[in-house]
Amino acid sequence: MAIRLGFYGGAGKVTGSNFLVEGRRGKAKTAEGGSPDTSHSEVSRVLVDCGIEQGADFVEAHIYGLFPYDVASIDALVLTHAHLDHVGRIPKLVKDGFRGKIYMTPPTKDLAELIMRDSVGILTHEAARLRIAPLYEEQDVDTAVRLIETLDYHVEKEVAPGLSVYLRNTGHILGSASVRITDEDGTTVALTGDIGNSPSPLLPDWEPVPDADALVMESVYGDRLHPPQAARVEKLRDTLKEAIARGGTILIPAFSLERTQLMLYELSKFFANGELPKIPVYLDSPLAIKVTSVYEKWGPTYFKPATEEEMKHEKSIFEFPFLTKTLSPEDSAAIAKGPKQKIIIAGAGMSHGGRIGHWEARYLPDPATTLVIVGYQAPGTPGRHMMEGTSHVRLGGQDITLRAKVENLEGWSAHADRDELLKFAEAALAEKRPKAIFVALGEPATERFLAQRIHDYLGGNAIVPEYGETWEITKDSVKKA
Ligand SMILES: [Zn+2]
Repeated sequence: MAIRLGFYGGAGKVTGSNFLVEGRRGKAKTAEGGSPDTSHSEVSRVLVDCGIEQGADFVEAHIYGLFPYDVASIDALVLTHAHLDHVGRIPKLVKDGFRGKIYMTPPTKDLAELIMRDSVGILTHEAARLRIAPLYEEQDVDTAVRLIETLDYHVEKEVAPGLSVYLRNTGHILGSASVRITDEDGTTVALTGDIGNSPSPLLPDWEPVPDADALVMESVYGDRLHPPQAARVEKLRDTLKEAIARGGTILIPAFSLERTQLMLYELSKFFANGELPKIPVYLDSPLAIKVTSVYEKWGPTYFKPATEEEMKHEKSIFEFPFLTKTLSPEDSAAIAKGPKQKIIIAGAGMSHGGRIGHWEARYLPDPATTLVIVGYQAPGTPGRHMMEGTSHVRLGGQDITLRAKVENLEGWSAHADRDELLKFAEAALAEKRPKAIFVALGEPATERFLAQRIHDYLGGNAIVPEYGETWEITKDSVKKA
């Protein structure tokens, strides 16, 4: 039997990652000491990722429906990383009857739990607005967390009878991994999850996947280039210097996972090197504060060697003397009482909710304020409107006149760009040539662009899969089921 690969999310879409891998049910090697295989099925089923699809609304309405496969028949779930568009529907999978194990790296376990718990609040709020039941509740997250089993990079593990899994670093966020799945005949399918914007100041570079019969790869920036890495740090420093000289408050809406830690890391360096005048910095996001603790915990073993070394010599690479972390609402409110000249880092990253909205409403009418945008702003979000130069913006139900200076800094994405993705594909094709590279997790036009490049420049068989399609993979061939 061939390996069957089903696309149930992330086909023609950046978000909602969800793939089903099926193979012949072998004899479980784990029977000794483990529980015996009581299933009567002849097929083993492993899901990779179970994310939320995001659009103009926080989540797309159709994710409230049933999964397009028999949830109870899934043996195991493997996670590539902890972003919401890869983990956000796990508690729903559990609520709908999944009881297998959920495998991920140790840092991803800590981060995924934080992200899933945080999403309960947002989803409850969304459901109230739509007048429907929430997608899942706290107790579903509790059940999901109990099913998690950690699996480190570079350890082969049988996760379902006849199917084994091997994880490699993708340098995207802390703990991120590509997943290689091998059946008993040695046929292999690999899925990249998201591929990092290497080199990162914190994480190791992405590892090549040279041994797949079929590869599913991401393509978010498949048709665009990032500005050079060195330029982005200088631009950040110069922008902040100018903003401090203008005397007002500096607002940085930031995503809690990875982007915020990168900002803290760079700020700490600027201040330590005397490159910026010392002004108070507030990290005003409970989620980002908790995520930073996870980075502190795992950094010494999962960062790139040079940064691990740095962590040994410094108390913390994310702390500096005048940084205040405001966990409670009372501490957050107290920020307003401090001096006008300060930096506030808070979520949400696209200014659509969270504590940043409060600070934007307060400070954006002041021409001395600077709003520093460091991440992707989806169309329709307040962040996008502000980036495009609107003078009026609606934040938390109020109309705000925007007199502040808005600075848009590029290059801080955690995703590989067009040339880096092509390099990844080239490395995959170097040894055991995959019979197909499926280009997924991108906008449709971007997926087609990257697929064309893989075909034209590398001679690879690149396929843009459609939602709901199943493909059959053997050592010699790939064909649509
Ligand atoms: Zn991601």
